[in-house]
Amino acid sequence: MTITNYLKIKNKIPSTVNLLAVSKGFKSQEIKIFNNLGQKDFGESKFQEGFEKQSILRDLDEINWHFIGRIQSNKIRRIVQNFQYIHSVDSYQKLEKIAKVSFEELKNPFILLQVKLSDDPTKGGFNYSELLDNWGDIKKIKNLEIKGLMTINPKGLSSKENLELFKKCRALADALKLPECSMGMSNDWEEAVDAGSTWIRLGSLIFGDRINK
Ligand SMILES: *Cc1c(COP(=O)(O)O)cnc(C)c1O
Repeated sequence: MTITNYLKIKNKIPSTVNLLAVSKGFKSQEIKIFNNLGQKDFGESKFQEGFEKQSILRDLDEINWHFIGRIQSNKIRRIVQNFQYIHSVDSYQKLEKIAKVSFEELKNPFILLQVKLSDDPTKGGFNYSELLDNWGDIKKIKNLEIKGLMTINPKGLSSKENLELFKKCRALADALKLPECSMGMSNDWEEAVDAGSTWIRLGSLIFGDRINK
């Protein structure tokens, strides 16, 4: 664990930027240590793994859980039941299903729509014009609250290329009047902050290297 990195970054980021501690691949005990330092927001990318940690940490009631992984349709109900934020909604069909389930479960999750801003075949998401063209319908969906956009940049970009893509995400969020942009990970968070990120998602930089994850 790299508590000094965590504290340094917390000091460096402006107050408009939230730090999401991405705990996938790490144990509940490690979450507890960061929680004791005042960290409240934790991100998990697999339902079962996250749910097991939530069960162990039930007594720490001040944790906000964020789902950041690929959403399998058959897990939507359990994700809605157990996560307050969902960063990785990558299609209209999933958004509608989340809305339907949220109604049934009396939940009102905070949603970030994942956008695909480059041709990365490994990543899903709404594309730019699809989102703009369908925004009128999307924003009418009830029983959830669309807070913003989320993006994952492809690996291996230069700092300048990362910055440009993040700016594109921020501009799209602004055009849709959405406050939040979830962007920036361990290797590109500084560019994301410069471009107007409101949620940087940090895993290895603060928890250390993930083994086999
Ligand atoms: C794993 C993951 C992160 C954190 O990655 P690091 O490079 O370890 O900071 C952020 N966002 C998503 C969607 C992830 O899956």
